[in-house]
Amino acid sequence: MSEPDADEPTDGTGSPGARRLADWNEARLRELAAEHGTPLYVTDLDRVAQNCARFRAAFPDASLRYAVKANAGRAVLETVREAGFGAECASAGEVGRALEAGFGGDDVDYTAVNPPARDLDAVVDWWRDGADLTVTVGAADTLDRLRERGYDGRLCVRVNPGVGAGHHEKVRTGAAAKFGVPAERVDEVVADARADFEFVGLHAHAGSGIHDEADLAAHREFLASVAELAAEVGDLEYVNVGGGVGVPYRETESPLDLDAVATAVREELSALDAAVALEPGRYLVADAAVLVTRVNTVKPSAGEVVAGVDAGMTDLLRPAMYDAFHAIRLLDPGADEREERPVTVAGPICESGDTFCEGRPLPAPERGDLLALGNAGAYGYEMASTYNSRPRPADVSPEGDVLRRRESLADLTVLER
Ligand SMILES: *Cc1c(COP(=O)(O)O)cnc(C)c1O
Repeated sequence: MSEPDADEPTDGTGSPGARRLADWNEARLRELAAEHGTPLYVTDLDRVAQNCARFRAAFPDASLRYAVKANAGRAVLETVREAGFGAECASAGEVGRALEAGFGGDDVDYTAVNPPARDLDAVVDWWRDGADLTVTVGAADTLDRLRERGYDGRLCVRVNPGVGAGHHEKVRTGAAAKFGVPAERVDEVVADARADFEFVGLHAHAGSGIHDEADLAAHREFLASVAELAAEVGDLEYVNVGGGVGVPYRETESPLDLDAVATAVREELSALDAAVALEPGRYLVADAAVLVTRVNTVKPSAGEVVAGVDAGMTDLLRPAMYDAFHAIRLLDPGADEREERPVTVAGPICESGDTFCEGRPLPAPERGDLLALGNAGAYGYEMASTYNSRPRPADVSPEGDVLRRRESLADLTVLER
């Protein structure tokens, strides 16, 4: 649906390092909105496949698993699986969806963060049924709880290297005490893991949205700490350094230099006699989807225009949750001729945080216009909710295939007695 932009690096795979909102075919997005209604996610699986190929080219020898929580849609999972990635799952629900999408049990990692009993029960059941999955454990308590359930399969220990990186304090997990075994307790927990399980590796995750020079420097520091811990522990099948590779959300940002990340990983971990594993989420799916929404209310107010739209924080939470920037484009052939005004794009939810931008210079919107929000493929639909009793949107491919149907008002009460 897009032409590769000659200005963008292609990392040797022929696809651009970033797909911009301007690269999406505006007429096609308007047709899809007319046919399927709004708010509407449009997800391009070809772009997911391109992103997978580019990531693979940068890390030819690594074991790659897709962080399912970025986008667990069935079609996305199938695309990532066909590209040769495994699945990194944050819950039993994600493990179940990965298995249903055809991932082999031995390609599934379950990262157990304060795992609810029901999740452990389900994962151990799948393991008993023959799924040779790996459980990644971040607390000694979880080892006890797995033992109680008779699990003695593949086990990886998540460490807390005390160093994090990422685009927002809410996603810098590397140093947060919630995640992983603190460095000083790693030896003890690994010894416990070796006694009763098939101990295979160490895991750490710096955070999410690594993008600029400062992030890369923090990420390198993180890698060095993980390498140090791994060298102390020794005898590992693999060292998993997590995900966190960012994408440019602003049109003025250039794509992250994936080769710089690959070089840092190689330089910091090459002394270890262990395979390297990575778990990208956002990088594979962010620029593969847009969210299309329709303007229903235009309200001039002091110095700016408030454009009320039919998508809200329930459809795309990132701006409200992380103050995240998403590019916004008016899908009108005459948009370029319109006067630019400071525009606040606001959703229908009764929350002041329910805005996608505030006072951003945009062509002045009119009632009935369509807007597209870029980079909606990662942590977009996945974080959608039905708050304010708003049914979740549909997700379609650029060709018009329905990947997930729109929820109806009836769906909202289907679970109630
Ligand atoms: C969220 C997460 C990832 C993926 O992070 P991205 O920023 O989407 O690449 C990988 N590993 C773990 C353990 C995570 O929690």
